Amino acid sequence: MTRDDERIAIVGGGLAGALLATLLGRRGLEVTLYERRPDPRIAGAERGRSINLAISARGLAALDAVGLRDQALKRALPMHGRMIHPLGKGLDFQPYSADGERAINSISRAELNQALLGAAEATPGVTVRFSQRVTGVDTAAGLLLLEGPDGPVTERAGVVLAGDGAYSAVRRSLAAGGGIDDRQDFLEHGYKELTIPGRGATPDDPGDFALDPDALHIWPRGTAMMIALPNLDRSFTCTLFWPKSDFEALDTAAKVRAHFETHYPDAARLMPALTDDFAHNPVGSLVTVRCWPWVRYGQGSIVALLGDAAHAIVPFFGQGANCAFEDCIEIDRLLGEAGGDWAGALSRYQEQRKANTDAIAAMALDNFVEMRDRVGSPVYRLKQTAQHALERRSAGRYLSRYELVSFTTMPYAQIPRRIRRQNQVVAAGLLGGALLAGLAARRLRRRPGRRRGCARVGT
Ligand SMILES: Cc1cc2nc3c(=O)[nH]c(=O)nc-3n(C[C@H](O)[C@H](O)[C@H](O)COP(=O)(O)OP(=O)(O)OC[C@H]3O[C@@H](n4cnc5c(N)ncnc54)[C@H](O)[C@@H]3O)c2cc1C
Repeated sequence: MTRDDERIAIVGGGLAGALLATLLGRRGLEVTLYERRPDPRIAGAERGRSINLAISARGLAALDAVGLRDQALKRALPMHGRMIHPLGKGLDFQPYSADGERAINSISRAELNQALLGAAEATPGVTVRFSQRVTGVDTAAGLLLLEGPDGPVTERAGVVLAGDGAYSAVRRSLAAGGGIDDRQDFLEHGYKELTIPGRGATPDDPGDFALDPDALHIWPRGTAMMIALPNLDRSFTCTLFWPKSDFEALDTAAKVRAHFETHYPDAARLMPALTDDFAHNPVGSLVTVRCWPWVRYGQGSIVALLGDAAHAIVPFFGQGANCAFEDCIEIDRLLGEAGGDWAGALSRYQEQRKANTDAIAAMALDNFVEMRDRVGSPVYRLKQTAQHALERRSAGRYLSRYELVSFTTMPYAQIPRRIRRQNQVVAAGLLGGALLAGLAARRLRRRPGRRRGCARVGT
């Protein structure tokens, strides 16, 4: 296949698809972006679908590549730490970084998506087509199968880059053709979004933040957990993570109120629309997609999966979008390195990214236990204080897992190895310290003995 007969199709105008379209357009390529939804700038966002996102170093680096970093940060609220809401005890603020300076950023998903779509549309060579649902790919014939407003159509596409989300139609279509291992692991937990409006908010006045806007709020409750991120309109979007069967059990407004007043009393007081939100907002699923390979080479087209379509992860490290953005940067970079050879670039893309996305998938699952169980414990607090003290004294040689994931662009796969090495050094240091202390104590114990010996000699 030569570059001339390659029509490039990007499926999905979400966060990753829109960013990738912009990057490829800037490279001088002709790209068509197909999005299932109508234009969100006209139709508005869907109800209860992760209204805000925490964007950190990786996401910001990617936005920087298309000149959107500063615009995004201007519309973001920095969160410098976690605010823990234990049941029956006072609030506990835990800074994310040792110096307390670093923050993750609460950003409206809809606004970010719209900014990215705007950037894509403004890029010469990029065409964005809304209300186009891709139903599958025919890699032998080099065709994209679509359901548009006028019914089913097919379009030629030599390169298909599928960023159509966790339940990707393209991935399903490839898996149906065989040769792709498509595993989806669902948590028994689902999630539901709820709202804390601004204090004293009226239709004309957003009021004031009802909680500290400089923190990501967490209500750790063992098998359940609620988090809240601030929005620019001074509200907070809360996400309750809970086993799906428990959501179903709260089937009346009275049960919902009673449950929240018992388990989340401080939040319940701030949620006037709680029972309405609970009744009407959907329960979302939490899935880890483990699929391989991500690239299919057919006679007529090459198809590659990216973002959630390739590796959706659970949201407990706030990294899904950050990671999807990294995919786009990598595809664009590798295409440049390969001199426009798609087959070579996409082969290297999947080889290099898989270990990284596996690593963040595992860390995200592990962080669920940390957030819902450990963050409230005194042992965790002590460990975090010790880690921050080490970070301050080690001039960057010791960094916590959270810092490495959220405040650096170190490849995810290197992070567990680095943490192991750091822990070994700390353990060796502690062991060495304990041995030295033991030796010192022995010397001290022996000295009076010697003195006694001397005295005996003297007597
Ligand atoms: C509750 C929750 C909280 C989260 N919080 C964070 C966070 O704080 N930080 C973070 O980094 N990540 C977070 N994430 C993860 C993040 O939302 C995803 O990783 C990210 O949106 C992935 O981007 P994407 O472009 O791959 O997929 P999506 O954003 O899902 O975009 C897919 C796009 O494809 C379109 N599409 C779907 N099917 C088709 C089709 N057949 N044809 C054409 N178009 C189609 C969709 O309409 C959509 O526009 C969270 C996720 C959840 C569920």
